[in-house]
Amino acid sequence: MAVPKQKRSRSRTHTKRAKIYRAVSVPISKCPNCGQPKLPHRVCLHCGYYNGKQILEIAE
Ligand SMILES: [Zn+2]
Repeated sequence: MAVPKQKRSRSRTHTKRAKIYRAVSVPISKCPNCGQPKLPHRVCLHCGYYNGKQILEIAE
């Protein structure tokens, strides 16, 4: 079985962990219609627009 030659410092471990958690986090894009944050490739839940068209009717 392969065994690591050197002990990894706590700093190196934590730096790598932090990078992994950052990559996993959900990407957020901005709605071009109302400017609210939304999930990419999804209808904006704030104004109901997607691809420049009104998809959902949002009750005000
Ligand atoms: Zn919107």
